[in-house]
Amino acid sequence: MTFSIAYSGSMRIAIISDIHGNREALDAALDDIFRRGVDVIVCLGDIVGYGPDPGYCIERIGKETSNVVLGNHDEAVFLPQKSMEFNHVARAAVKWTIRNLDEAHVTYLKNLPRSLSMHDILFIHSAPGDEGRWPYIFSNFEAQMYFSKFKERLAFVGHSHVPGLFSLNPSVTEFNGRDRFIINVGSIGQPRDRDKRLSYGVLDTVAATYENIRLDYDVRTTASKILENGLPVSLAERLFVGR
Ligand code: ZN
Repeated sequence: MTFSIAYSGSMRIAIISDIHGNREALDAALDDIFRRGVDVIVCLGDIVGYGPDPGYCIERIGKETSNVVLGNHDEAVFLPQKSMEFNHVARAAVKWTIRNLDEAHVTYLKNLPRSLSMHDILFIHSAPGDEGRWPYIFSNFEAQMYFSKFKERLAFVGHSHVPGLFSLNPSVTEFNGRDRFIINVGSIGQPRDRDKRLSYGVLDTVAATYENIRLDYDVRTTASKILENGLPVSLAERLFVGR
């Protein structure tokens, strides 16, 4: 199901994804977003999973925006059988997350739509047209088959935790206001492109510009909370290297 967002005139949209219970990264990103003065914030899902502050992140996202779509780690909280496809570290984190959320948090996740559509832009966690299989798009080659699966000109995705710009026209390598693109905004709470800084995107629909923003945050605090809570050690280690 796709919901529409009311839209009027010029708009700067901040797109965040894959927060994964990382409070320090989410707060740093939102501080930066408010400093820039955007009009709308959209969250592409995976608010929880891996990180030590899932409840805080759900409440903060819920307070700052109503434009939020469901991610696979959010889904695993209320459909735990789905986490059977996860690796053992992710599965352990799902179990820990379920124990550390209250009923209101779970209800919030259950009510998230799978996609949003606004002003010729599709927002979805993994890939256009996906209704719960959660495929990854890593390359321009892989992206090609998804352009026929959405009617909007642009699609924003997360899921791989690797920022990327994929164009329908292979000769176009930079964002413009004319061509069709699938854009991955990267991850707030667990970047995986060997850059430990948080990643998100800002689209200006009038100037027709897109910027991928990278920012440092307090990785040490998040990592110590992961260890204190008995979450897998690798989840703390990977934050320092961004992979
Ligand atoms: Zn994720």
